[in-house]
Amino acid sequence: MPRREIPQQRVVKTAIPGPKSQELIARRSDAVSAALGMAIPVFVKEAGGGVIVDVDGNSIIDMGAGIAVVNVGNSADLVIDRVVEQVHAFTHTCFMVAPYQGYVDVCEALNRLTPGKHKKKSALFNSGAEAVENAIKVARVFTKRSAVIVFEHGYHGRTNLTMGMTAKNMPYKEGFGPFAPEIYRMPMAYPFRWLGDPAECAAQALDLISHKIEKEIGFQNVAAIVIEPIQGEGGFIVPPKGFLPGLAKLAKDNGALFVADEVQTGFARTGEMFGCDDEGVIPDLITTAKGIAGGLPLAGLTGRAEVMDSVHLSGLGGTFGGSPISCAAALGAIETIERENLVERAREIGAIMVAELGAMAAKYPVIGEVRGRGAMQAIELVIPGTTEPNPAAMQAIVKYCQSKGVLLLTAGTYSNVIRFLPPLVMPEQLLREALSILDEALAAL
Ligand SMILES: *Cc1c(COP(=O)(O)O)cnc(C)c1O
Repeated sequence: MPRREIPQQRVVKTAIPGPKSQELIARRSDAVSAALGMAIPVFVKEAGGGVIVDVDGNSIIDMGAGIAVVNVGNSADLVIDRVVEQVHAFTHTCFMVAPYQGYVDVCEALNRLTPGKHKKKSALFNSGAEAVENAIKVARVFTKRSAVIVFEHGYHGRTNLTMGMTAKNMPYKEGFGPFAPEIYRMPMAYPFRWLGDPAECAAQALDLISHKIEKEIGFQNVAAIVIEPIQGEGGFIVPPKGFLPGLAKLAKDNGALFVADEVQTGFARTGEMFGCDDEGVIPDLITTAKGIAGGLPLAGLTGRAEVMDSVHLSGLGGTFGGSPISCAAALGAIETIERENLVERAREIGAIMVAELGAMAAKYPVIGEVRGRGAMQAIELVIPGTTEPNPAAMQAIVKYCQSKGVLLLTAGTYSNVIRFLPPLVMPEQLLREALSILDEALAAL
């Protein structure tokens, strides 16, 4: 099949949404549960590189990558090739019924690419939440303990256990309880909102956490400390240097496992293959999903071999987990990341965004902070002159940019963060164009 070449340009032909999208939105309202949100009210016809083309012919700059999923771009060549080949060979046998090579290949790749040179093993699942659930299962069996430590602003998914681990009530938890027991939430080292001296944030947070675990839980009861190396949904909160290594040490010194939820930070996004690589932190267990397979559903749990092997035979699994089609896609995506040097590309994208966003922060006091790493950057919006969250500014900016054909994603416990997650294959001129429209939106506030 000849490859589609989608012109890499921003085109706004109709109001957003255009008439065809409006028609589909009406059908959506009639047929789809009203509980599902929609970041931009357009229906997609095709997407690739740095754009999403809607059914009315608008070509929208994609600053979200389907929430850090299509890091290699939509319908990346190698992903298409591998998937098509696999679909023709077979679509499903269930890895636990009759195994296939692709699953093993993906596990080998995860064992090789994740932080640490020690002997690792992996298992595959369908979603990030499922990988996190399995990390807890494994950690509890290995340690014979039950308490799970999580953090303010953390996000780990929407299943019952991971909802309990997630911090933000609305919309993720409201009315969905009761939640699973033995989950304990600790203060997060969030320098911008730290009540003490921001320079002391890491040390003070670690002291507080250590004290709380000892007095409120008991270290001997802790199975796992679970954290995102950069918090995603919570607002791209980058912990200060020393915080993650300190947590990993706290876990190690006390016989608990350090679990890095790399579902959003993984696969070249942060300018390293994984978020933990920045400080050389080596987790006992790592969860992956989003960017792993170029858009097909797949998740991984990777960790120390003796930890991953501690669970009894048939204790882990699932019907669809590690689908051969998703595994084929993952191999295509991983090869793309390595061949096209997307780790380096994420750093270049990051440098452009940091420079441009920094210049905007200097002009517009509504930007309280620019933060992130690599191609995972955000601005936190405040009432000028204060640190008070400004969700209204966030809404206005997103709406303005949508009307000009730029898709932005939001985040943050206080709904006042705009996050930038472009596909790593976005052409530079499109990235700069999206940022200049953001500048216009800030000026128009
Ligand atoms: C998105 C996300 C999850 C949940 O992944 P799903 O595939 O939506 O279940 C878990 N952890 C983090 C850090 C995430 O960003």
